[in-house]
Amino acid sequence: MTTGRHKLQILVVEDDNRVAEALAGALRRNGYQVRRAANAAEALAAAPVDLVLLDLGLPDRDGLAVCRELRARGSVPVIAVTARGGELDRVRGLRTGADDYVVKPFATAELLARIEAVLRRSMNQHTHDHRHLTIDGLEVDLARRTVAVDGQPVPLTRKEYDVLAVLVRAGGAAVARDRILVEVWQSTYDSMSRTLDVHVATLRGKLGRTGSMVRTVRGFGYRLATTADTAPHPAPPSTAADR
Ligand code: CA
Repeated sequence: MTTGRHKLQILVVEDDNRVAEALAGALRRNGYQVRRAANAAEALAAAPVDLVLLDLGLPDRDGLAVCRELRARGSVPVIAVTARGGELDRVRGLRTGADDYVVKPFATAELLARIEAVLRRSMNQHTHDHRHLTIDGLEVDLARRTVAVDGQPVPLTRKEYDVLAVLVRAGGAAVARDRILVEVWQSTYDSMSRTLDVHVATLRGKLGRTGSMVRTVRGFGYRLATTADTAPHPAPPSTAADR
């Protein structure tokens, strides 16, 4: 699959050299340019590509964490490659951000079909991707991982940003606490629940007057206020008659 004369680039993340060689060969024969990474560090250091084929069994880091980080940086499509049943359950059960997955051993034809489908979908959706959101003075650029309020950059910790990014991607829909915990901490442990509340509190504080846009959905989780919401600006006491 090509766009004009430009060959699409696929990053093959695979620590098994034999498997990587075979994959790279098959992809090249089918018109793709291939780059390779043998571990998570190399994968995250690689230049932007059109699609990432990500083996989840990596030597240096959990492949699902790599997947999340790749997606947090932008909208690169990711196909997870998994060998073990346990991993497969996690890919199915958790919201990893992977666009699709294949289970080893897989037929090359199946993989190629999935790659084509994911690339096609990704190109169609590209213009609708909410990579840059501006609501009422709050600016979040998902591609650059930057946040600003009224034009002033807001320095967030990585986890604070990740929590905000989950809410931004949800586009105003309520996001369950468990889902945030899984996406940001890869955990649903009760002990992390308190950590989430603390991060939301500091996030709200750092977002200043726009902090109240991070809404609590009682008994469920959080959501980001959108332009459809009434702007929660601090109102003088005399206008509080609608309570
Ligand atoms: Ca592996």
